[in-house]
Amino acid sequence: MKTEAIHHEDNPSATPPPQPGAVIRELYEEYLIPTYAPGLVLVKGSGSYVWDASGNKYLDFVAGIAVNTLGHAHPSMLKAIHEQARKIIHTSNLYHNEQQAKLARKLSMRSLGGKCFFCNSGAEANEALIKLARLWGREQEKHEIITVANSFHGRTLATLTATAQEKVHQGFAPLPEGFRYAELNNLESVRNQINAHTAAVLIEPIQGEGGINPAAEEFMRGLRSLCDEHDILFLCDEIQTGIGRTGEWFAYQYYGIKPDAISVAKGLGGGLPIGAIVTSNKLSDVLQPGSHGSTFGGNPVSCAAALAVIETVEKKKLYERAEKMGDFLITRLEKLAHKFDCIQDVRGRGLMIGIVMDRPCKDLEGILLRNGLITVATAQNVIRLLPPLTITHGEAKRALKIIDKGCKEWQQYKS
Ligand SMILES: *Cc1c(COP(=O)(O)O)cnc(C)c1O
Repeated sequence: MKTEAIHHEDNPSATPPPQPGAVIRELYEEYLIPTYAPGLVLVKGSGSYVWDASGNKYLDFVAGIAVNTLGHAHPSMLKAIHEQARKIIHTSNLYHNEQQAKLARKLSMRSLGGKCFFCNSGAEANEALIKLARLWGREQEKHEIITVANSFHGRTLATLTATAQEKVHQGFAPLPEGFRYAELNNLESVRNQINAHTAAVLIEPIQGEGGINPAAEEFMRGLRSLCDEHDILFLCDEIQTGIGRTGEWFAYQYYGIKPDAISVAKGLGGGLPIGAIVTSNKLSDVLQPGSHGSTFGGNPVSCAAALAVIETVEKKKLYERAEKMGDFLITRLEKLAHKFDCIQDVRGRGLMIGIVMDRPCKDLEGILLRNGLITVATAQNVIRLLPPLTITHGEAKRALKIIDKGCKEWQQYKS
């Protein structure tokens, strides 16, 4: 939209040429409920690059919000999806499905060693965690869940209530009961919310939407002890951090602790919709026939794609690559922070990075975009980088160059 407007102003008398993508934008205006304000019309992707309807090429450092783990059009995913689609696309969970079985084993073996439940999104995965916690605690009348400020757990009524951000709650009262809020990296604040009815604590090891805020090691270890002490479940939302993004299969693994269950989604399907929870053995049999379900959950094609993602991450050691590329990017970004006053901090781990700016930075996101780099601003003043785990050194350097140039330009706008 923006580039079109600029075009008109530059040539007030000229009739603007028809913009590729204009029809799509018009259809959006007329028929899409405007829950989003989308920018580009993206039509094609390959590796770390995407193309818009006008043929412009962009380096994609959003990757569908940490979804396209293997980048775009990865051959292993295409093959898996194609082969499974030819065999059988959907069966429902009334029947066994080979892909789901294999995927559950892989997920369990790489994380908590218990069992999996499959659904279609992150919010659904957290819903499953919430139901699991309530069912687990019901005999002791434990049902409350503690989350922390600036968390993000989804958009359904229960998960938006779990999301400790006022702006997400507004207008949706009455909210479901049983959620309490504490502060990240403040163990005392969590302790203060514990009472006889507390069933669980739910934490993102690194907050994503909240602005790339990592949980401190003492905090995570402290939480584990606190939960053990009070017989409370420790749940980790690994929806954005999972599947190798932070350098380990799951971010909790950095802390040398084991949560009782995790939720996974985003990067799991590499672009196909899928969500999951994985439990430890202690919680493997809490949910029983009839207590939860999903028609599409664990769909054979989504599971085949997820298997291809996990196998490729494993074979190519992409978690190691994420760590290495992340270290490189973070080191260089810290250098940029010395060069530009507008950069206040660089946070994150692996390929989940936040560049903290000195003011709201939606317009910087726009500048980077015009220079060919897709990023996503969050929490007002944080530019978030979530590239595919497959990025090359050259692509990382290219992104840094664009960020350098973009900051130079943005700094001048400061009033
Ligand atoms: C994206 C996200 C969710 C919600 O996932 P959806 O698939 O959009 O429902 C939940 N938790 C975290 C940490 C996320 O990043």
